[in-house]
Amino acid sequence: MINEIAPAKYDNSFKDIEPRLGDIILCYKDNRILVRRTYDHLELPAFIEIVEARHLFDIDDKRFFHVDYNDLYTLDDSYEFIETRALRNVDDIHGLNDKIMSYAAVCGLHYNYFITHAKYCGVCGDKMVRSRIEMANICPTCSNTKYPDIMPAIAVAIINDDRILLTKYKGRLNVNYALVAGYCEVGESLEECVKREAKEETGLDLYDIKYYMSQPWGFSNTMMIGFIAKSYNDNIVLQEDELGFAGWFKREDVEVLDNPTSMSHKMIQDFRLKKF
Ligand SMILES: [Zn+2]
Repeated sequence: MINEIAPAKYDNSFKDIEPRLGDIILCYKDNRILVRRTYDHLELPAFIEIVEARHLFDIDDKRFFHVDYNDLYTLDDSYEFIETRALRNVDDIHGLNDKIMSYAAVCGLHYNYFITHAKYCGVCGDKMVRSRIEMANICPTCSNTKYPDIMPAIAVAIINDDRILLTKYKGRLNVNYALVAGYCEVGESLEECVKREAKEETGLDLYDIKYYMSQPWGFSNTMMIGFIAKSYNDNIVLQEDELGFAGWFKREDVEVLDNPTSMSHKMIQDFRLKKF
């Protein structure tokens, strides 16, 4: 998965520090990330001289800073913005074929969403300033404090008679199979969310719901929370405005996917490998 960078260690403890030469810059424009092209490959740019940069996190001894696109000096043509989505497939990033840099870029994308959406106070409209004691922006007029949004969403491996339920979203029938998934609504527990999403999308009633794993997914400001559950019945009633396909698969019929980047794909492969 994209967040599996061990033995490297992601350290997001808050530090109010200034960048120094060699620190790595994460800068985004319209969901695209700034990279530098050096003869035959791309790399994340290192800090040279920037007006203002905000420390985000460290990975081992590498320090990562966010730079607002509007604060950039004019860049020479060795710099360009590329699709951050392309980072999901690390093999596509020449020179960034490095799990650490790819994960840093996704975490930076999540922070970038926060920073660019918390420039002004949602209560009184005044310009917000960054906190010096935690990752937050504060309104100097009304003291409103804004933290990065992390939206919880569940994905559930539904099992019946030693088969797993796999789905494809409507309009995305050419992508890999997925699990039933969805965002948590106000007032429900994660387990209640699992039951509701399964019922809504497939008509199945679940029991024996167990937590399995989680994964931060910065592409959509999401925390994915994975569950395993059993269904009483196997009669699928497809929610056709959301899903294009849902069906039961035996372990031997599950498509082999090497090095899955997402939690859902990892869970599907774990089922195939009899890990649950
Ligand atoms: Zn305010």
